[in-house]
Amino acid sequence: MAQVRDETGTPSEAGIGAHLLPLGAHADEEGRLVVGGVRVDDLAQEFGTPFFLYDEEHLRARCREIVAVFGRGAAFASKSFLTKAMARLAFEEGMTLDVSTGGELEVVLAAGVPGEHVILHGNNKSVAELRRAVDTGVGRIVVDSFDEIDRLDAIGELGETRLSIRVNPGVEAHTHEFIRTGQEDSKFGLSLASGEADRAIEALQDRFGDIADGAHAHIGSQILELSGFDREIEIIAPFIGRHGLREFVVGGGLGVAYLNDEFAPSLSHWAREIATACQRSGIDDRVAIGVEPGRAIVATAGMTCYRIGTIKAIAGYRTYVAVDGGMSDNPRPVLYGSGYEAFLARSVHTRRPWPVRVVGKHCESGDVIVSDGRLPEDTVVGDLLVTPVTGAYGFAMASNYNRVPRPPVIFVANGAARVVVRRESIEDLLRLEP
Ligand SMILES: *Cc1c(COP(=O)(O)O)cnc(C)c1O
Repeated sequence: MAQVRDETGTPSEAGIGAHLLPLGAHADEEGRLVVGGVRVDDLAQEFGTPFFLYDEEHLRARCREIVAVFGRGAAFASKSFLTKAMARLAFEEGMTLDVSTGGELEVVLAAGVPGEHVILHGNNKSVAELRRAVDTGVGRIVVDSFDEIDRLDAIGELGETRLSIRVNPGVEAHTHEFIRTGQEDSKFGLSLASGEADRAIEALQDRFGDIADGAHAHIGSQILELSGFDREIEIIAPFIGRHGLREFVVGGGLGVAYLNDEFAPSLSHWAREIATACQRSGIDDRVAIGVEPGRAIVATAGMTCYRIGTIKAIAGYRTYVAVDGGMSDNPRPVLYGSGYEAFLARSVHTRRPWPVRVVGKHCESGDVIVSDGRLPEDTVVGDLLVTPVTGAYGFAMASNYNRVPRPPVIFVANGAARVVVRRESIEDLLRLEP
């Protein structure tokens, strides 16, 4: 059973849980963090801080785990972490690439991923985005509205591109529960309950014939309780049957553990659950089943390494530990109240009895990275502080707030590090202004 809990838990005093670190992470004999055979303090020395660090083997292992079940039906939701290196890696490991904007499409194409292995999503695609997708031979467009059907109609010939309809099944999964909502509550998809989804697929089939052959749904993100997926599949199965569809993508949304006492189902467990639910719901064997995980592929592969610059004890309240990044490299605590753990790169397994609030350097009181963090009592200014499980929606959501340059992204494997995105420079910050 997946353990279910709120995202804003309290980190524990114990050393950092191994399940929050990538496969290639361990502590050396002095307790220092090593990832992919490279010491993290050496990386800080060489590249400066802060930086995003990814264990490349962990990324590859996660891709392989899901490809083993779904083949190219496994799509990586690139919005969770997109760089050319990541797009190439996911494609090399056998995944399809999901994109949701023209910008994501260009990055994936620039990485050398062939259009036929790309799926375009989005609830408000422009004519230019649709045309570019068709011109580059994108394998599938997931149609999200009647306005989009009109736009596709205006484009005319779709070449090699096939079409799916995004269905809103009325199952909305939240962090630790799912509630049923009507189509009124979502900007995504076409409602099954109201008949809009049926009208949309019929309109697509009338206009485009056989190439309109897919259904797609996505019920939410950071889902630790798998029953929402069963419910989704059960609800959509009859729709697939009555329109003779040949492809069904169940979406992404599998959650990950962020805190020591959280646990998430594995990708293969999730995949088995989906395959079983599809069978149980009577979905024809000839229907290709697909999934599109983002977070579950990349979150645990990545971590953020900062340097502590200021420690301020407020008598009677708490201690603030300030690092050289903040909400510009990890907006999730501000956006969703998400909890994280923090630890020191020099003492991975040391107990962390000291309650602190880890904050960034931005001009906002809300600029919090770990609200209720714990660190070893000998923590000092100059220490390297690591927040694990920042591989998804960290770099992807990074901003230049307060004109803070975005950190670099470093991949490590087999004892070597490579910079896949360099640190932003002052010239970068100024380059858009005449
Ligand atoms: C965001 C998104 C995903 C990926 O979600 P994760 O929670 O990162 O797995 C997949 N499909 C669609 C359509 C999405 O919008």
